[in-house]
Amino acid sequence: MRFSDTGYYIEAYIKCGNCGVLVYDDGVKSDRADLKGVTFCSDWCVDWKAQKLDGVSEPKIKRAM
Ligand SMILES: [Zn+2]
Repeated sequence: MRFSDTGYYIEAYIKCGNCGVLVYDDGVKSDRADLKGVTFCSDWCVDWKAQKLDGVSEPKIKRAM
């Protein structure tokens, strides 16, 4: 979700490219070329999606949260 400069209205609803939750701030971006322009809610989701793209069927990422 992105708020306008004034913060009075919502400019865009942005959902995490992995889990689909609404992203309220700038979110997390991957520097992978194939994930360019995709916003994620957390580093965990970035890693998970990246492993999926690398062919890992069940990515195992330790939770940092
Ligand atoms: Zn997510």
